Amino acid sequence: MAISKTDFMRGMQCPKMLWLDKHRPALKVIPEETRKKLDAGTDFGDRAMGMFGPYEEMTVYRPGTRIPDTAAMVRRTLEHLEAGTPVICEAAFSNYNNYCAVDILRKTESGYDFYEVKNSPKVDPQFVRDAGFQYYIMARCKVKIGKIFIVIHGPDEEDPFVPVDVTKEAKGYYRWINDNIWDLNRMQKQGEEPETEPGDRCSDPYECWYYGYCHSPRREQLSRIARNETHLNALRRALSRPGAGPQELSSVRERAEALSRYLESEDWKQDFADDEAGLLPGWLRRGVLSEDGIYNVLEEYGERMGMR
Ligand code: SF4
Repeated sequence: MAISKTDFMRGMQCPKMLWLDKHRPALKVIPEETRKKLDAGTDFGDRAMGMFGPYEEMTVYRPGTRIPDTAAMVRRTLEHLEAGTPVICEAAFSNYNNYCAVDILRKTESGYDFYEVKNSPKVDPQFVRDAGFQYYIMARCKVKIGKIFIVIHGPDEEDPFVPVDVTKEAKGYYRWINDNIWDLNRMQKQGEEPETEPGDRCSDPYECWYYGYCHSPRREQLSRIARNETHLNALRRALSRPGAGPQELSSVRERAEALSRYLESEDWKQDFADDEAGLLPGWLRRGVLSEDGIYNVLEEYGERMGMR
């Protein structure tokens, strides 16, 4: 479990947000408007890859999925750096498992400049902090970075890619990142949820996706349901891998056992009854409160493990 650029920025906004990302993702509610913005940003970024002509893209997916294989991407990036590839897109780096990907690296006489693409008409201070994080990881990976640019969306739709030089400001974040990244790393691995009280941080600089959870009087119950929802989803993912047998499925054994205990507990009966009574918030993902759903998954797990 390491820290990516997104993890770092979310953890600096609120440590609890990062912890929930790792341990209770089922409590996350991403507003539709944010989803649309993220999708539009991806399209703009894809188009920008060709802004310097031919390029090599480092993206590698895990077999049969659209989930990036970050370890393979890091290896592929290293090969292209060693080969001196002039333009590298989605270059990936890892230092003590802390990870970043960079939109465009462009070779110079002394190393590489890097370009981070944002579908925005101006440079937001957050973009510069993001670039600072990427610089930090690359510098620790001993990549010689010259200039750093944020590519914004200019007014000319024929040629909308406008690089803005933020080298000095982005490199200035090195110390701040180093002073915080290791504490965040430790915190995200702890078993207990951090005791961070809601406040201004819940909407600054971004509206938090866990607002509903943190401001609910039923937090303990919601956390319990979300924890088991995460177990259920992990089990479903493991079972969906074609041909996965006892060896592959042993990695989710503890989750299956926890889920089984939950299904037989008084907690589950209480959560189920409260759901039936309409006492749980509408945004809560609660597949785990469908008795058949959870039972079927546990049955299939038992059969595939040879326990039935
Ligand atoms: S709602 Fe507020 S306290 Fe809760 S995780 Fe988000 S920022 Fe932190």
